[in-house]
Amino acid sequence: MFEDYAKFIDEGTLRELEIVAKELKGIKVLHVNSTKLGGGVAEILYRMVPLMNELGVETHWEVIKGDVDFFKVTKKIHNLLHMSGRDKLEHEDVITYMKYTYENVSVIDTDPYDVVFIHDPQPLGLIVKKKKNQKWIWRCHIDISTPDEETWKFLEMFVNGYDASIFHIPEFVREGVKIPAFVIPPSIDPLHDKNRELKEDFIRHVLEKYGIDPRRPIIIQVSRFDRLKDPIGVMETYRIVKRRYDCQLVLAGSYASDDPEGEEVYRDVIEAKGEDPDIFVLNLPPDSHLEINALQRSATVVIQKSLREGFGLVVSEAMWKYKPVIGSNIGGIRRQIIHGVTGYLINSIEGAAFRIKLLLGNPEQRMKMGINAYERVRHSFLITRHIRDYLLVIHRLLKG
Ligand code: UDP
Repeated sequence: MFEDYAKFIDEGTLRELEIVAKELKGIKVLHVNSTKLGGGVAEILYRMVPLMNELGVETHWEVIKGDVDFFKVTKKIHNLLHMSGRDKLEHEDVITYMKYTYENVSVIDTDPYDVVFIHDPQPLGLIVKKKKNQKWIWRCHIDISTPDEETWKFLEMFVNGYDASIFHIPEFVREGVKIPAFVIPPSIDPLHDKNRELKEDFIRHVLEKYGIDPRRPIIIQVSRFDRLKDPIGVMETYRIVKRRYDCQLVLAGSYASDDPEGEEVYRDVIEAKGEDPDIFVLNLPPDSHLEINALQRSATVVIQKSLREGFGLVVSEAMWKYKPVIGSNIGGIRRQIIHGVTGYLINSIEGAAFRIKLLLGNPEQRMKMGINAYERVRHSFLITRHIRDYLLVIHRLLKG
């Protein structure tokens, strides 16, 4: 129930939400992305869609179809947008992308909607279905500040057909995009199983299940098995810390149905773990919300050592659980962590190890930062603010 959010946010914000939602009564909204489970976009939509309906704005969620050929191409596009590298978008990749786009054009019915949110590049091409009286919004969850230019040029053709775009932070807004760009950071839902309060018994039970010792420090990173999350770098960080503190490392991850690289990365992580009994690589089903919640709550320190990151919901999730987070000084992570106040921003493995050691040796500092972290999320990164921002964009587009 919406009123349940009153204990986290002020009355004014809730009323504001109701007022904008009332103004939009009668409209129909569609969200389209590429997976129902796994990764931050699915995580947000899973909670946002029912909440928007509860507010009286009829909202639906569709997922595009594709097989491994398509998702290999879209993962390549994802990586090329995050960072230009040695790879290139090939002619055959473009053909594959277009082929699946046209298949989805005939499968996904966008006609009944007034507003269509398209998330990320995978379903971007659906814009060819746009009707005159509709507003289409491209919601980008990727750091596209330094993309491979050829890849971006290919996508830009589609992007410029939209009515508006939304990015996480101002640095991601591309020059040359001819449509209005809004900046809206994502959010977490405090009432989701992933984030709600848990009984100590349950947390202990989860640690026991995996053989993790609750009496020794626990460093944790929660992320899909993806090279851009730098799981190997996390292990190297842990190994430096381990010389000084008898700690444990938990790498909890999963696969997403639209990411064909996950299994390979998982195998590499297992190999890099070697025989160390204090490293726990947990490959969990993508809907293990309560267990992830328990693991995050059990952490002494949380790390997010991504090489590139659109936002990194896991950072806010951990901060909400009063954890100081050591995060890479990049993308959306930089927006969440206030260096020296809620955690630390780091630029290297050595830097990460240094900050973790600092925190492991100072429980008081951990507690202080944890409280600051919680307040930061409560103020800026809760789903109520996120929905209000979306509704205001819709209002602006439909009613001027
Ligand atoms: N997640 C999860 N299980 C896992 C790994 C990740 O439930 O094994 C969740 C995580 O809690 C977060 C989301 O997936 O809610 C990941 O979002 P984020 O923005 O951090 O990264 P993305 O996967 O979208 O790149």
